[in-house]
Amino acid sequence: MKEITRATLYDIGEILESDVSTKYIVAARGGTKVFEVECDDEETLGNVSCSCLKFECEGIPCCHIMVVLITLGAAMPQCCVLNRWTLNAKSASSLETTDHVNSMKGTRFSELLMLAKPVFEEASCSIDEYMRWKEILEAELKGKRKREDIEGESSGIEDREWLRS
Ligand SMILES: [Zn+2]
Repeated sequence: MKEITRATLYDIGEILESDVSTKYIVAARGGTKVFEVECDDEETLGNVSCSCLKFECEGIPCCHIMVVLITLGAAMPQCCVLNRWTLNAKSASSLETTDHVNSMKGTRFSELLMLAKPVFEEASCSIDEYMRWKEILEAELKGKRKREDIEGESSGIEDREWLRS
């Protein structure tokens, strides 16, 4: 991810906290350009925005937001994940009302994607690696389907036994 590489060129200068939001002044290392990354909630980086407006326009978190994320060691917030990366892309409009359970699921999902991306990027450069990962994922999918079948059957049996007793 280019934005992550570029994020290393920036430093967080000042952190301005107010009652409603936290503002991070992100400055280019050795430069004079300054960007303001603002968010509602320090821990979850809710409603994050940046003065460069890249995130607002393109839906991709800019390198300035990345600096803040990396510095805080925060997980990728749900709002920074493009809708097509989330499982419930169709209900994107209801994202704001998503309950805590779903937002945790989204965070975990995007974290896994973040981890997988560089691995798969590298794997796609080599046929051997590509085949290896394809096999792993296909085996995982097959196993998942089998587990679902077995679970489906066993719960059926339980139902019947419950009826008999
Ligand atoms: Zn920015």
